[in-house]
Amino acid sequence: MESQLIAIVAAVLVVVVVFGILAYMVISAIVRGKELKDAWNECDDPNVPDLRKYWCRKCKGHHGIYGGGEKETTKCNNCDSDDVHRVTPITLWQKFGYSLFTLVCLSLGIVAETLGVNTSPIQIAYVFYGMAVLCAFVFGYVYRTKSAARNEWLIWAKERGYEENAKKI
Ligand SMILES: [Zn+2]
Repeated sequence: MESQLIAIVAAVLVVVVVFGILAYMVISAIVRGKELKDAWNECDDPNVPDLRKYWCRKCKGHHGIYGGGEKETTKCNNCDSDDVHRVTPITLWQKFGYSLFTLVCLSLGIVAETLGVNTSPIQIAYVFYGMAVLCAFVFGYVYRTKSAARNEWLIWAKERGYEENAKKI
């Protein structure tokens, strides 16, 4: 009985974490949309570095994007490449959030296994382990791509007089 209760609590925890992350994503998407609009109102020169805009890795510039719907990927207005990225620095909070999600799944798996929670036909512990591994892979990939694009952008931006700590956005 007790182990079942713990399994339920664990499942509720996972749902809370997932919903928290989703809410955060929605809110930050709204804020981003507003920032992007402001950025384009201020300046529409593709050669002026702007952290708020998407940057195309292929033709190197802030040319603007189109698409980004459910079926279509986000593409560059100038060269139609889908290698467009946001170039904001990866904050400590983002790293924390990414690792937290993986750690929560991992510890839930360990807890379930230690307590010997038996949920046939599928063992909940392995589901949690699977989620942890998946999260680690996805976030590792996102992180690598993002920091690679950011580094390329920084070199490009510095050639155009961008100073990293000049203004904080
Ligand atoms: Zn492009």
